[in-house]
Amino acid sequence: MISPKLQDAINAQINAEFWSAYLYLSMAMHFESEGNAGIANWFRIQFKEEQAHAEIFINYLVSRGGRVVLKPIDAVPTQWKDALAAFTDTLAHEEKVTALINNLYALAEAEHDYATRGKLDWFVAEQVEEEETAKGMIDRLKLIGDNGLALYMFDQELAARVYNVPAPLAAKA
Ligand code: MG
Repeated sequence: MISPKLQDAINAQINAEFWSAYLYLSMAMHFESEGNAGIANWFRIQFKEEQAHAEIFINYLVSRGGRVVLKPIDAVPTQWKDALAAFTDTLAHEEKVTALINNLYALAEAEHDYATRGKLDWFVAEQVEEEETAKGMIDRLKLIGDNGLALYMFDQELAARVYNVPAPLAAKA
């Protein structure tokens, strides 16, 4: 059985993951309306990944005999100046998520809940990847600047991204 404190914290994390999903879906819809179908595809996949993160925490809480409590999802922004602005927001958001995961990790240690700490290891590594990816996109978009052909090629490349079920969820399914 999981401690009430950790149960509350994981429920808060489930909400944060759904908020992330909602943010990225909003970005996808923005770029659909701007005619950047490739960038929209990339964010749609990001949306699916965030839903998967929420599901991993949901499955984990259930497996520990905890109670999943779904809370309202706060509103998300709906417009971005350009792709650089969206990926800059993405990086800032992922840095916040990293801090949330780290706080959860610290709480698991304080509660001597080593199963939860172990479960969080995958998320710690995932956040390194999320931040690195967003930073890479920002660097490339800065190089692209207002070169339309370069942005077209960037959009084409992002159109090729495919969704892979994250390992902890694939293992459960
Ligand atoms: Mg996430």
